[in-house]
This record gives sequence, structure tokens and C-alpha cells, in this order.
Amino acid sequence: MSALGWSSLGYIREVEMTARPVIVVKVGGSAGINYDLVCDDVAALVKEGQPIVLVHGGSHETNLLSERLGKPPRFLTSPQGFTSRYTDPETLDIFAMVYAGKMNTRIVERLQKRGVNAVGLSGLDGRLLEGPRKTSVRAVVDGRQVLVRDDYTGKVERVNAGLLRLLLDNGYTPVISPPACSTEGEAINVDGDRAAAMIAAALSARQLIILSNVPGLLRNFPDESSLIPSLKYDGLEQALSFAEGRMKKKVLGASEAIAGGVAQVVFGDARIGRPILNAMQGKGTVISA
Ligand code: ADP
Repeated sequence: MSALGWSSLGYIREVEMTARPVIVVKVGGSAGINYDLVCDDVAALVKEGQPIVLVHGGSHETNLLSERLGKPPRFLTSPQGFTSRYTDPETLDIFAMVYAGKMNTRIVERLQKRGVNAVGLSGLDGRLLEGPRKTSVRAVVDGRQVLVRDDYTGKVERVNAGLLRLLLDNGYTPVISPPACSTEGEAINVDGDRAAAMIAAALSARQLIILSNVPGLLRNFPDESSLIPSLKYDGLEQALSFAEGRMKKKVLGASEAIAGGVAQVVFGDARIGRPILNAMQGKGTVISA
């Protein structure tokens, strides 16, 4: 579909498409996620005129490739208990090979097969995801605090929403992955959930859907019957106490999205059929303002 499609039907459809608020979907990178099912839903929604921005992870594949290349993954735990991948320059190469390489290409391919004109972008392209690199990272190792200086990580503070609008308004579906772009133009590892939250806020998305290999936020992980069906923004701080490991970043991302004006965030299950449609209907953990 062209932005200047003056055939009356095409033009009207164009206006309808751009007028509908975007849904931002973040699909994780942990084992068990079914990307075919996620892409089935993206295709169904895009075909009915719902603009989607898809953000994806790649943690499990990065761990596998790191092992195969003889550079086992290492993780840093902050004094606050948040974990992140230790990303020295060699790890950043492996990270980019998986995220912006294999994962992004294969997701774009899945969408193209389903008739969706997807465009794959890393956060470096057009400075899509930009923020400062942390010059040093405080981590707890063997109970002691240390400063790590060769880590290429940072936090997304700006999103090139204009570039995303340009694509969406012309009928393309952006498929986005880290790395992001530091203020100095370096590739940096950033958390995908928090990047998705920034994208959702920048696009005034109607929903941010965060899909992973769990049914949602569990009060007693890994007991899936302890799913928390809904939460208010005020309850998120307490929720941080029962989110372990990387789930903490999702809770943080949810709070940042809502603080940024997104009305609803849903944590949903990407192992089962209709993952996005289920989440849109409130299946999972629904977090609202
Ligand atoms: P992804 O790579 O799919 O984004 P992550 O691995 O970063 O997902 O985070 C999801 C993981 O968080 C789950 O697989 C689970 O192991 C872990 N987790 C920790 N605490 C909880 C919790 N309270 N509820 C649900 N999942 C949790």
C-alpha cells in the first residue's frame, strides 16, 4: 500500500490504518516460545488493519551460540537484584549475530510468508533506539560489589518514532531488536522489555503485550496456578518482590510503559495458540494505570 495511493479505496484504507492506535508486541527469547503462532496472530491483525510493531528477544539462542563458540554466557547481578548479560565486545558480536541476524531475519521471513510486509531493524538503524552507554556497571560478585568497565550496555532514552510512523503509515510492519545505539553511536545491549516499553510510550500505543514462556506473572514461580490475573500500577512495586531474575525487568518495563501513557500492559504466553489475540482479550496478567 502506498502513502500516496489515490485510488479511492486504497486511500481510505490508508487513513483508517494510520488512525488506529498501534499495538506493540514484545516476544521474548526464552526456550519454548512459538514464533510461528506469534506471527500467525501478527498477520491476522495486520490484515484487518491493526498496526503492529513487533519487538523481539534472543536470549536462549545467544546462550546456545555463545557456548558453541567457546565463550559461555556470563551474567551480572546489580546490587538491586537485576541481572543482565555481561556484554564485552566479543559478546556484543555474538549478541548482534543472534538478535539482529538470525532471530530478526527468521521472524521477518515468517511474516513475509504470511503476506505481511515486515521490515527488520536493529536499534542502530536510523538511531531507532538511542541512549547512553553505562561507562561502568556495578555488580555483585561473590557477595562483593565490583565495577565492570568493558560492558557495552545501556538504557534506551529516545525512540525514533518518526521512522516507525513512516513505515507504519506506508503499510510496513517493523520488527525490532537490540542492539541499541549509544549517544556516541556505539552498539549497546539494552533490555528488550524496557525498550519495548519506550517504543509503546513513544507511539502512544493502545497496548503493550509482553509475551514469554510463562502464562504471566506468577505469585509463586514456577507454580503456573498462581497466575496473577490483574494488577494496578500502584501494585507493581510489590510485584517486583515476587518476580525473580529477568521477570523483574518485565515488571519494570510495564511500570515505565504505564508511566509513559500506555493504558494497558499484558504479560501473555507465547507457547500456545493465539498468543497475541489471547493477551488482547485479557488472558495473562493485565496491568492497567
Ligand atoms: P523472555 O526472554 O521470554 O523475555 P525472560 O527469560 O527474560 O523471558 O523472563 C521470563 C522468565 O522469568 C520465565 O521464564 C521465568 O523463568 C522467570 N520468572 C521469574 N519470576 C517469575 C514470576 N514471578 N512469574 C513468571 N516468570 C518468572
